[in-house]
Amino acid sequence: MGMIRWSVVSLSITHRNIRQQLAALQRSGFRSKFRLKTVDRTYIAQKGMDTIADHARQFVDTRVADAFPKNDGRQTPMRGHPVFIAQHATATCCRKCMQKWHGIKKGRALNETERTFVRDLIMAWIERQLNDAFS
Ligand SMILES: [Zn+2]
Repeated sequence: MGMIRWSVVSLSITHRNIRQQLAALQRSGFRSKFRLKTVDRTYIAQKGMDTIADHARQFVDTRVADAFPKNDGRQTPMRGHPVFIAQHATATCCRKCMQKWHGIKKGRALNETERTFVRDLIMAWIERQLNDAFS
């Protein structure tokens, strides 16, 4: 079996930014401790990466993208879906973390570019976990 890939459509500036952000997150003791567990890996294998990417986009849209998300700061569980784990690992779990780590200001809705960036960052982290590139 080869590398598991979820292809980011535009590999230019956004892709470079994703790599930089992943590298920065890896230097955080808290963020770098998150791992996909066997149950998450099995779920991803069953659903496929495109479906997981759809879920990621749905979670972004419904849980963190609004100007004032419901239960902000507590809206992302620590388990139950691989995307939730990825959100904690990538600091896309709530608006406070997104502001601190990614410079996305609180109090306004995410635009399309930001929603896509957050989804792609989540998927890039998952892809790296599956390929064990993080050790
Ligand atoms: Zn957070």
